[in-house]
Amino acid sequence: MHTLRGLRGDGLYIVAVTGATSADFHAALFEAGIDDLLLDEGQHHLLRCLMRAKRHLQLLQAQEQRHLALQDRLDSWQDGLDHLPTPIYIKDVGGRYLGCNAAFSEFVGSDRDKVIGSTLADLLPKDVAEAHRQSDLEVMQKGGVLRVETDVCVPDTGMRHIMLHKACVAAPDGGLRGIAGVLIDITERKELEARLTTAAERDPLTNAYNRRKFFQVAATAVAEVDARTASFAVAVIDIDNFKSINDELGHGEGDLTLCSIVDTLRANEDEGVLIARAGGEEFFAFFSAEAAPRAADILERMRADIARYCQVVTHAGSAGTISVGFADFSPSQETIDQALRRADLALYRAKRDGRNRLCKAE
Ligand code: GH3
Ligand code: MG
Ligand code: MG
Repeated sequence: MHTLRGLRGDGLYIVAVTGATSADFHAALFEAGIDDLLLDEGQHHLLRCLMRAKRHLQLLQAQEQRHLALQDRLDSWQDGLDHLPTPIYIKDVGGRYLGCNAAFSEFVGSDRDKVIGSTLADLLPKDVAEAHRQSDLEVMQKGGVLRVETDVCVPDTGMRHIMLHKACVAAPDGGLRGIAGVLIDITERKELEARLTTAAERDPLTNAYNRRKFFQVAATAVAEVDARTASFAVAVIDIDNFKSINDELGHGEGDLTLCSIVDTLRANEDEGVLIARAGGEEFFAFFSAEAAPRAADILERMRADIARYCQVVTHAGSAGTISVGFADFSPSQETIDQALRRADLALYRAKRDGRNRLCKAE
């Protein structure tokens, strides 16, 4: 009986036909796996037995159909998820994957069959897995949805910036089944953001910060300290006889000189110093409260290096050096525009006194 059942499964309806009347014997038959007993001969007994068999098979068929419909629904969900390029997974409270889509398998570099039942520690380096386990525990503790941005090294693709959404999934009994997660690749968006930020705050020719960034940084620095006592410094830097470089060597050479002067200025930028292109061949420098006492030294270093590496001789004499006017700046006493105006007057004196020099505002 067991062998028969094993071979044919529940689709087989086994009827024992017997003349024995012992209840124990009947119980032993049921124990052995029969579905029905035919004890008495006669058509109506046989008919009732057949009707029970028919009813049994109808129930089995209905169950089979429900099972197939359920499997079809599951398959269509899986198929739909597999068509999405976004990695999606679901895992239990212990971190074991219960399911995932094709994009997730590809993302972790393992077949779905291998992914299901394993934990992230089986698939990725231990430290990465541990970081994710911590955020899993966090979302399971707090509930709701957790959004985490993270850099991930993807096989064959390289470093990608990922926005991870994790959400708790409830079990039918109201407890916690686990976590569902979606990995959204935001690398392109991040790169675009970085390009837009650069475009908004930098000069495209020299890559130096622009005026807008200069005034933003200065305003933030002033707002962050006690304006009654804090002191900063500003400088206006102008390239000497720059027009003669354009005139004699061409505008392209002028652009190159401008860029190498900016590179030299920035190479000498210290902590707390910001150089910005104010326009044309003129630059502003802002010195934080910490850097302000060293302003003269830093500017002198810039001047000396530019004189050494960027100076050229033109009909105007020496060109490609810088003249600098600088001023201490106390926000309690004047605005940054007023400080820059004083620095500009000092710059005028530096030009008048022979260029390639620093002059401090009174
Ligand atoms: P001074 O020492 O008195 O400052 O003389 P200067 O020749 O540097 O000053 P002037 O104001 O007479 O000329 C500045 C020149 O800078 C004129 C302008 O064409 C040039 N210039 C401004 N912006 C750029 C740029 O982006 N590229 C190039 N190649 N030249 C520029
Ligand atoms: Mg100039
Ligand atoms: Mg100028």
